[in-house]
Amino acid sequence: MHRFVREGLPTRVVFEPGGRQHVARELERLGHTRAMVLSTPRQHAQATELADSLGKLAVGVFPDARMHTPVEVTERAVAMARDLSADCVIAIGGGSTTGLGKAIALRTDLDQIVLPTTYAGSEVTPILGETVDATKTTLRSLKVVPETVIYDIDLTLSLPTAVTVNSALNSLAHAVEALWAQDPDPVTLLMAREAITTFVACLPRIVTDPGDRDARAAALYGAWLAGTCLATVGMALHHKLCHVLGGTFDLPHAETHAVVLPYVVAYNAPAALEAATVVERVLGAPGATALRTFVDHLGAPTSLRELGMPESGITEAADRCLAAPYYNPRPVEREPLRDLIRDAWAGNPPRADGYGTAAASNTTS
Ligand code: NAD
Repeated sequence: MHRFVREGLPTRVVFEPGGRQHVARELERLGHTRAMVLSTPRQHAQATELADSLGKLAVGVFPDARMHTPVEVTERAVAMARDLSADCVIAIGGGSTTGLGKAIALRTDLDQIVLPTTYAGSEVTPILGETVDATKTTLRSLKVVPETVIYDIDLTLSLPTAVTVNSALNSLAHAVEALWAQDPDPVTLLMAREAITTFVACLPRIVTDPGDRDARAAALYGAWLAGTCLATVGMALHHKLCHVLGGTFDLPHAETHAVVLPYVVAYNAPAALEAATVVERVLGAPGATALRTFVDHLGAPTSLRELGMPESGITEAADRCLAAPYYNPRPVEREPLRDLIRDAWAGNPPRADGYGTAAASNTTS
């Protein structure tokens, strides 16, 4: 690698079991005394516990974060933050809660402290997806980058196995796509390889024993690595396709990533030797097939059909993917893409022939 541009983000990362005890210290570092705590309804008790532990430093809890960051929810949270004269938000939860904190920061410039409790990795990215009237748009802005992230594995021990596996596979997809990114840099490549190795080693252990603290710590480390990859380099066909599928058919975010990844690895492998080699080395067998077996053994969903996508949507999904050009290491062509989506819909094994014979070159579709 002789030429690259790398732009790091300024987020302060504290990675420590029991790290939630340092929230007051981190608030003090940022100069804040009136924090509003955010969570989903499911994690309301965890948020209240955190707020109680902060005493007067916490001025309220907003427990209504939702998947896909609906703007209507953000507006209510912003109004509450203004009513409380909050000077900071603390998000405790997964990508949905982190998304709400980012959306508030975008509108108010309030600082954010995030305590991630899943492996989605959103806490270290400048990316925000928001939904208005069922349409999701994604933006990149330094305004949404959290100031401080506290990774505390104790907060992840209650994470149900299904959310564990799906959010980690979403993260794994960040790392795999980083390996074939248009704008790679050596640090991101190192982090991506490490993330893939880490997830492949720890996820089966968590499925066997969700209370395995070492494996949980490894998964959280993997989430930080993979999230940093997503933050630093551009994504390609996999993220584009998942965005289209999620938005068009209202499919669950992380589960869609879990299903689609082996198929995109099969499609891109002929043009992305680094990714194919890394995945094969880590999984011990040719990438796409081994990845699909791995996903299957973890108990994750393996077909878009079971997520609720209609068969009649296959062509529409392909056409929407092709509507706007974007980088992919292999040109994205209509027929092979339709075949890929059809296989992912049915849950067929990914094709060993890599979905057709397109030239393996670095071009935009
Ligand atoms: P999530 O945040 O929606 O969480 C899923 C459910 O699990 C929620 O009900 C949540 O409260 C619950 N939960 C989370 N942690 C828990 C715990 N420790 N114990 C018990 N319950 C827990 O799921 P996610 O996969 O983390 O996030 C998905 C969202 O994140 C999507 O909207 C996606 O678009 C977004 N995302 C954004 C980025 C980015 O960079 N902007 C990256 C990845 C994902």
